[in-house]
Amino acid sequence: MPDRLIDLSSDTATKPTPEMRRAMAEAEVGDEQKGEDPTVNLLQEMVADLLGMEAALYLPSGTMCNLIASRVHTRTGDEIILDRLSNQYNYEGGSAAGVFGLSIMAVAGERGIFTGAQVADGIRGPSPHAPRTRLVVLENTMNAGGGAVWSLDQINDVVQVARAHGLKLHMDGARLMNAVVASGVAAREFVAGMDTAWIDLSKGLGCPVGGVLAGSRDDMALALRYKHLLGGAMRQAGIIAAAGVYALQHHVERLAEDHSNARHLARGLADIPGVLLDPATIETNIVFFDLDPTGPTAVEVSNALIAHGVRIGATGGRHRMRAVTHLDISRADVERAVEVMRTVMVS
Ligand SMILES: *Cc1c(COP(=O)(O)O)cnc(C)c1O
Repeated sequence: MPDRLIDLSSDTATKPTPEMRRAMAEAEVGDEQKGEDPTVNLLQEMVADLLGMEAALYLPSGTMCNLIASRVHTRTGDEIILDRLSNQYNYEGGSAAGVFGLSIMAVAGERGIFTGAQVADGIRGPSPHAPRTRLVVLENTMNAGGGAVWSLDQINDVVQVARAHGLKLHMDGARLMNAVVASGVAAREFVAGMDTAWIDLSKGLGCPVGGVLAGSRDDMALALRYKHLLGGAMRQAGIIAAAGVYALQHHVERLAEDHSNARHLARGLADIPGVLLDPATIETNIVFFDLDPTGPTAVEVSNALIAHGVRIGATGGRHRMRAVTHLDISRADVERAVEVMRTVMVS
């Protein structure tokens, strides 16, 4: 097996660059739980400003951002409307239900993007028999929707219906900066209708850890209580927050490269016999594709690729795969991956 793995399984595969590591090593630190870590405070101010919110809170993971935001807007037994493809519904251990006793109404959008009408249909009536609908969660970009970007019109449609029914809104912006770079829409515009929103630092931005949740001062004060409750409060966290500060300064614009590499990858894969993929559907850094169901399964192909030093995940169905471009993937890596995929598929 080749000594370097071309890891297209996820943009979480990024390792901190030497410059990012230097920023981390040199970070000013203090006790984060006392609000005395200057680097954490700086990162929080940067994200609050970026998202046009009053305040922000540094958290150990994106999962905790979604979990805490869900609790901030609800009481036990309340219901959240989200898409059935969403990360929160599928990949967070059922935490909103498991930790805070929240109920979920999963709607079926188009590539994870749902409409105001679907929200209206999902809202429970006033009967005391039903859970109380309180919150709508949008994911942008939509991971399992193939990195799809919500347009401002699509967001506004949902916001209007939610507001008309007195619901709160939260955006899972794990890859919001990918949406920003792909669309040219400012982050604060994307989240203008939201009560809370967050960005992940450990995906395409290339940090080892962390997410930052933003919202009103009151909501973030409450979020801080839940951060402590969940054991998410840290001490000299400036060491890791410095990676976030560095990433926001140096790793946002370059996401365009990942998007261009993803399109290049999609075009290359689409040309291979047995691969079913429309390259025109690729909007950001995520490339889902299907294999001809009469041929090898996704797991078989994934294993064969690994033997040649390329990792592409088998995700979902028997013949469905996902490749994600990121900071540690060059154009040459993409070309090599396509070449290997062709060898595997035609052999
Ligand atoms: C990765 C991801 C999360 C969870 O973030 P972690 O930092 O891995 O906990 C939530 N939502 C989406 C859309 C994600 O891609």
